[in-house]
Amino acid sequence: MRLELESLLELADEGVHTRGEALFLRGAVLEAARSRGRLQARVQGSAPFPYRVEINLSQGGWACTCPYAWGPVCKHVVAVALAALEAPEIFTRKKLGRRAPVNLQAILELSDDELLRFLWQLAEVRPELMHEFAYNLMQRFE
Ligand SMILES: [Zn+2]
Repeated sequence: MRLELESLLELADEGVHTRGEALFLRGAVLEAARSRGRLQARVQGSAPFPYRVEINLSQGGWACTCPYAWGPVCKHVVAVALAALEAPEIFTRKKLGRRAPVNLQAILELSDDELLRFLWQLAEVRPELMHEFAYNLMQRFE
């Protein structure tokens, strides 16, 4: 189902909309890129690293890597949607890779011990990934 940016913005709570607009106006939307029906960007909010946002207009979906779970749309998605409407020139046109979905089935089958060991190894190879993971986890329990 095709998605219009205006209807996406209407889904956001008023407070979320205000905070997303502030992010956009402060220049927090970074590395914005678009291909036919897709928008991608990083948004630098209060977290120590930017969140990744994707809005798929042709398939009618959107996603953000932040832990916000209290409404359908977070402030980072609002910021990217506003940027696309009001500052389309910051989006570079490029072919966005069709990322193959990660198959997590193997991870689900690990025992707790194996999973811990796996995370530990991941933390050594990709510390920034674990930093983001741990931060998001803490946000969820705050
Ligand atoms: Zn977000």
